[in-house]
Amino acid sequence: MLALRLHGKEDLRLEDVDVPRLEGNGVILRVRATGICATDIKAYTTGARTKVPITLGHEFAGEVIEAGDKYQEYVGKRVVVNPNIFCGRCEYCLRGEHVLCPNRYTIGIDVDGSFAEYVVIPSQAFEVGGVLEIPGHLSYEEASLVEPLAACFRGQRKLMIGPGDVVAIIGAGPIGLMHLKLAKAFGAAMILMGEINERRAEIAAKLGADYVINSAKEDIEKRVMEITRGRGADVVIVAASAGAAQEDALRIVSRGGRINFFAGLPAGKEKVPINTNIIHYKQITILGTSMQTPYEFRKTLELIAAGIIDVKSLITHIFRLKEGLEAFSIASRGEGLKILIRP
Ligand SMILES: [Zn+2]
Ligand SMILES: [Zn+2]
Repeated sequence: MLALRLHGKEDLRLEDVDVPRLEGNGVILRVRATGICATDIKAYTTGARTKVPITLGHEFAGEVIEAGDKYQEYVGKRVVVNPNIFCGRCEYCLRGEHVLCPNRYTIGIDVDGSFAEYVVIPSQAFEVGGVLEIPGHLSYEEASLVEPLAACFRGQRKLMIGPGDVVAIIGAGPIGLMHLKLAKAFGAAMILMGEINERRAEIAAKLGADYVINSAKEDIEKRVMEITRGRGADVVIVAASAGAAQEDALRIVSRGGRINFFAGLPAGKEKVPINTNIIHYKQITILGTSMQTPYEFRKTLELIAAGIIDVKSLITHIFRLKEGLEAFSIASRGEGLKILIRP
């Protein structure tokens, strides 16, 4: 079968590899749609992975074509899978905070992923409720966006965004735009977005951001304070992988506000000078989130299925697997929004 495999730094190859064999009680999934994530691009530019070569891809939906005895009923079903495989037994899993599980591993990050015709889903994914049937009216393409949207859903739950909040989102890439859609669904009264790319700024405005601020051209703090009459944003989500954006978050948050450092920073750039007195005197909460629990994954699928969040408007490109290298180069140039591969 065809697979898009990372061999090292900037060394991604389209290869013909063996179809994976079923081990234990898991299933084999025929991948029908899979998205390229910033994490895949980071893996490509740094080559940093626990093992190489590895087939990348962790946002996916597909059809079960083969199953062990225990999951026979799934054969032929359309499913979407939480790629994070949790143990279900540790302190954190028991607490419902599976994302903290020290025994976690992730399909497409630690083991072969979905940029291939077939991918193995271990039985552990079923045991913690990480495999969900896709409702009939949703496409595989839409279902493949559950994973990144669920990470955003977790981020906003932790921020406790509620009706009337003024929410600022720094970064209007696919993730920032998902946050925009979710914040509206959570009841935000006003959404401000910071984005330096003109084209993305236009899309953010079209998708309903109340104000889009180009921080390369104007002082984001001054602008946010003008708009909010000196109060700042109740909630700031940093969806841009830049230390400067994290610093901006502290300058634009309101007293008693909440900040989520949603985007990780590149290795070597994670030390950011922060005025900790702002945290102290403005009495703000800074938190970070990544990944999503099985519960959040499931709720997110329900949000899409119920039509509360439309993800179709975020899909700008769909490639075949054999065009995978081209898809990657477009994604790594930041062109388009969500770029999918249909093996
Ligand atoms: Zn991802
Ligand atoms: Zn665990």
